[in-house]
Amino acid sequence: MKQPRRPWRGVIHVGLCGGVFRGEAGDNALHAHGAHQVSVGLDGPVTVRAGARSVRSRAVFVAATCAHRIERGTVLSIYADVSSDLGVGMRAAAGCRAAVVALSEQIGDRLAMVGSTARELTTDVVAEIAGVFGHRSTYEQPDPALLRITRVLSAAIRHGDTPSRAALATLAGLSEGRFSHWFRERAGMPMHPYWPWALLVSAIGIAAVALLERLQPYEPKWLEDHGDTFVDVLHGSVSLGLIFATVEIATIMRTWLPIAPWWPSWPAWASVLAAGAVIDLGLWAMHRASHGSGILWRLHALHHSAQRLYWLNGERRHPLSAIVLATPGITAAILLGAPPQAIGTWMAMVSVHLAFQHANLDFTLGPLRYLLCVAEIHRWHHKREYEDAQVNFGEIWTLWDHLAGTFHDQRNGVRAGEVGLRDEVMPSGYVAQLAWPFTR
Ligand SMILES: [Zn+2]
Repeated sequence: MKQPRRPWRGVIHVGLCGGVFRGEAGDNALHAHGAHQVSVGLDGPVTVRAGARSVRSRAVFVAATCAHRIERGTVLSIYADVSSDLGVGMRAAAGCRAAVVALSEQIGDRLAMVGSTARELTTDVVAEIAGVFGHRSTYEQPDPALLRITRVLSAAIRHGDTPSRAALATLAGLSEGRFSHWFRERAGMPMHPYWPWALLVSAIGIAAVALLERLQPYEPKWLEDHGDTFVDVLHGSVSLGLIFATVEIATIMRTWLPIAPWWPSWPAWASVLAAGAVIDLGLWAMHRASHGSGILWRLHALHHSAQRLYWLNGERRHPLSAIVLATPGITAAILLGAPPQAIGTWMAMVSVHLAFQHANLDFTLGPLRYLLCVAEIHRWHHKREYEDAQVNFGEIWTLWDHLAGTFHDQRNGVRAGEVGLRDEVMPSGYVAQLAWPFTR
């Protein structure tokens, strides 16, 4: 029978060149962090698993960055910055270069003596650890946990890595839930500034399109609500949610998959462009495949069923179609080792671009239409006549269409009454639209 999830319960103390946790270790997934760790079993030996290896002892040392998992139980866990005296002392006490090492019974006994209240943790652990690992307390430092986390973060950004929130929370000696709050309080900004930032930029960009459409419509008749706006907003919300979930998914996959670490340490913008090229090719290929017959087309048809082209069309998509379109390109980018931030940044740009690409906005990029899949070219792809619409599959770059001979330079080819599906009737309700591909 599946056991219910068990949370971590206990007392934490942060500010000792690391953190100390004393309490019940709950469920934890395989994770790694930038700090050395020593865990002491308080109700028996503690078991730490790392890959195929499993170490069971009164006290266990886990080297920084070693992916591991600790078994449930009452423990005292000490986390120390690798560059601190304490971290160096811990590594020395472990005595060899192995990532997970059983420490002596004696060390376990001494560390297990510390008290269980926050105050006792502060004083006892400082004193005890100083004795065990030859460490002098640096407790007086101003918020070293925060300094350490920002240091780990900036090092990770330099290396194109994404430390997981769980790993950083462990570094701070806090539960994941409390960690975000703690970080915001100490740092004056949220932990993942990227997220709200990207979401905000994306939302502003997309909303701006709606505003611009009013100022300069391409087709005034498409300004009217066709009874589709509300359902399109629902589709758009789900699509945007999926786009932003890709960052989290990419981060998780990167932790779990054996990824070739050869992605060069390029500057951020180059990584974004390179990851973007891989994703763009994947989207193009899957978009083209979605225009065949069968289930792929039936999933994609919702996107083409709109009777007008306006900003919300960009994200009017069956969620399964979104997954089908994006999964191969994003998976390829992850397997190549692209940083999740680069993937997320590209996808955020794509979401804004899609609003422009479908916008009922009278604008031209002139000759740039040969390079970018802009609205003036993409409109033709939404032509009612299925035979005509099998061109301009590109998401952002037109390159793939040029190579495949599917680029069609017909600017602003469609007007009111000329977009949508000629051969299919799409229901107007949200649930009915989701079910439509599977009903016949
Ligand atoms: Zn299409």
